[in-house]
Amino acid sequence: MAYKINTKKCLKCGLCATECPEKAIAVDDRVTEKDGLVRYTTRIDAKKCTDCGTCVSFEWWCPNKAIMKG
Ligand code: SF4
Ligand code: SF4
Repeated sequence: MAYKINTKKCLKCGLCATECPEKAIAVDDRVTEKDGLVRYTTRIDAKKCTDCGTCVSFEWWCPNKAIMKG
């Protein structure tokens, strides 16, 4: 069972794409706002996700807890 990103809660910070140890989280889109803030649209590739649980652990957790088990 793969993990999923709740797009309503996602802050688009992009951290998950660099923190996933399996590189299962891809950046689909990258938008730079007028104030220079870059917002990332990320997606978990179910084929690569090993259910390691790192993205929902205390070791490293999505800052807005937007990732959950699918
Ligand atoms: S770490 Fe969480 S809030 Fe940030 S882009 Fe990933 S899912 Fe969204
Ligand atoms: S459960 Fe592990 S492999 Fe799957 S997206 Fe989260 S950190 Fe990556």
